[in-house]
Amino acid sequence: MTTAAPQEFTAAVVENFGHEVTVKDIDLPKPGVHQALVKVITSGICHTDLHALEGDWPVKPEPPFVPGHEGVGEVVELGPGEHDVKVGDIVGNAWLWSACGTCEYCITGRETQCNKAEYGGYTQNGSFGQYMLVDTRYAARIPDGVDPLEAAPILCAGVTVYKALKVSDTRPGQFMVISGVGGLGHIAVQYAVAMGLRVIAVDIADEKLELARKHGAEFTVNARNEDPGEAVQKYTDGGAHGVLVTAVHEAAFGQALDMARRAGTIVFNGLPPGEFPASVFNIVFKGLTIRGSLVGTRQDLAEALDFFARGLIKPTVSECSLDEVNEVLDRMRNGKIDGRVAIRY
Ligand code: NAD
Ligand code: ZN
Ligand code: ZN
Repeated sequence: MTTAAPQEFTAAVVENFGHEVTVKDIDLPKPGVHQALVKVITSGICHTDLHALEGDWPVKPEPPFVPGHEGVGEVVELGPGEHDVKVGDIVGNAWLWSACGTCEYCITGRETQCNKAEYGGYTQNGSFGQYMLVDTRYAARIPDGVDPLEAAPILCAGVTVYKALKVSDTRPGQFMVISGVGGLGHIAVQYAVAMGLRVIAVDIADEKLELARKHGAEFTVNARNEDPGEAVQKYTDGGAHGVLVTAVHEAAFGQALDMARRAGTIVFNGLPPGEFPASVFNIVFKGLTIRGSLVGTRQDLAEALDFFARGLIKPTVSECSLDEVNEVLDRMRNGKIDGRVAIRY
């Protein structure tokens, strides 16, 4: 039985870039056309939320806003129009909150590039609150019987790395480097293993590398202690076929070129705001492909959730309360989180 929604609810709000989030009561929104009001059960905290709070990127959200795009919750009210979800269904928000559905990107399976896309917890209020709105055409359908806390990180971290691996042009038995073993990276290790790739993990903290080995990485490199390019070239006898960078430091992006095999593919997921030096000679002579990859489509998300529901992916998640979000963001800033932290409401 669903109880009536209140007039107000508690959320973590970004009021000014570069400051802590403010936990306060805000007005409950009314679901518009194609929208549903969702009572949030849990929300993962992604490093993108930290970039949003800091105003790190050239395309900025407009404060005040509520971050969060790994929210799982129950539909409590539907807006006008037709919906293929109903009250009581468990759904999720995602970074791709909605898109136009008709542009050249939307109609060619590249909806994440839609110029009119809305982003969860960025251009639309997100899941760092007890309630959120979703567009039911784009909301994730959470499979039956899964733990919401473990499902939450799949909605961004999971789909993002799953898609990145899909576009890495690698096949089973080949070497894949996962550079950065945080929220995204520790899940990337698991998808790569599930796809039959031989996984090498690179990070700058030993405990992250231990987590990577736990999830199936066969070789790990601490880039603080040794040159990851040399170590990977030696271990793989010529470099990795694919390199996926989820790290939050620019240095890792330049190192990716050194770790790749000739004709290898490098996929960038991480979004530090800066730049990195790259040798033109290296790229041309080695015939490298460098590819940016942004989250995933609804179909990618459904596939990523299917891997998860079949037990192939088990995110390492610890929980916190809404009041602890600032402290968690601080730990994230300092690289002190193992796997993901999710807010439990
Ligand atoms: P996180 O804070 O959980 O993990 C970052 C990891 O990078 C940590 O393990 C840290 O130790 C590691 N790291 C830092 N410097 C490094 C270096 N020099 N070499 C190797 N590893 C290093 O962050 P997250 O939530 O996993 O997000 C990672 C990045 O991905 C963020 O920039 C985020 O905005 C971005 N992101 C992109 C997409 C996308 O669609 N492309 C989606 C989600 C997140
Ligand atoms: Zn994210
Ligand atoms: Zn579009």
